[in-house]
Amino acid sequence: MGEGGKMKELDLIKAPLIRKMFELYATGTTGLEELALKMHSLGLTNTKGNVIRVSVMHKMLQNPFYKGLIRVKGKTYIGKHIPIVASKTFQKVQDIMKGKIVLKGLKNNFQYRKAIKCGLCHYSLIGERQKGHVYYRCHTKHCIMKTIREDAVSRTLLNAFEYVEFYPQEIKNLSELMLEIREDWASQKADLLKSISLQRNNTQTRLARLTDLLVEDTITKETYNQKKEEILSELLLMKEREDEITAQKETILTRVDNFLELVKRLIETVKKTNTTKMSDLLKIVTSNLAANGKELMISIASPFFEALQMRLLQYSGENRKMARTENRTLVFSLTDTNPIKAPPLTKKELRTYLEYLLSDTQNLTQLDDEEFSL
Ligand SMILES: [Zn+2]
Repeated sequence: MGEGGKMKELDLIKAPLIRKMFELYATGTTGLEELALKMHSLGLTNTKGNVIRVSVMHKMLQNPFYKGLIRVKGKTYIGKHIPIVASKTFQKVQDIMKGKIVLKGLKNNFQYRKAIKCGLCHYSLIGERQKGHVYYRCHTKHCIMKTIREDAVSRTLLNAFEYVEFYPQEIKNLSELMLEIREDWASQKADLLKSISLQRNNTQTRLARLTDLLVEDTITKETYNQKKEEILSELLLMKEREDEITAQKETILTRVDNFLELVKRLIETVKKTNTTKMSDLLKIVTSNLAANGKELMISIASPFFEALQMRLLQYSGENRKMARTENRTLVFSLTDTNPIKAPPLTKKELRTYLEYLLSDTQNLTQLDDEEFSL
């Protein structure tokens, strides 16, 4: 019974979601953080419509009210309300949370499996589940590295990705610049193709004259064949060049476009999607991830790093709260929740950055076959 002896009624929308939450956790393959995100995507939110905090979810999963019990002043009664969760499921959730049950395959399911290195001895940290939370620990003998909690890692990574993310104004400018570059290349391409076409006409004229010479007996059959082969080879080269101009440059432009698209939605993707996407993103955005005490060292991969570098170079203001950079590595404190971002890059700087991207798209080839359905 609720207040005033009134029976608590089921919230028809939330009840099935809460049941789902218990069932998902009871599979033993979903950590609390992943669960919170997943439930958010299914429609279970806090009162503000945001993702339910891990600590709140932790409490909810322990609340026996959902299996039909009511606690009043420290005493427990069987409630008259309809239970949302089966006792068996509820018990399994408690067992998993306390680490009593380790299901098969669970070991391999940690979000940052093999992704975080120990900052001291450089071996991979190994995930473990304790009281509903996932921790990563260095298993090297005598290493003094302490454990690091998964949700702290995720939060810090989000901070880091915010650094790498472009501002809306920058995206707008980049798109405009790409249009200009596309137009430039289109006119360059037209010029090149025109000159190739002229050369081809020229070659064909030479070929016709060669035939005349043979007919007039001015040259031998042997010379004719030799010259003809030379001219045909030239034609082949021209054809190849033509294909190159049309195909290769298009690939480069598309690659850069895809890259910009990815950067544009980086944070959105991380915030919205599940953990498998997160590790895909990590593979693309970072080259190394290491933990040391209360700090996470995030090495940013090319070409994300170059943008970041430009940003940090032009920003030397009072940035004591800002993450340090060492080589390609951002060092974040796990307790720092609100790092300061540098101001946006100017259009001129963005052009330099785009030119860099276009000059060497080898860095971007990994995006060609990466399955990003952003
Ligand atoms: Zn270690």
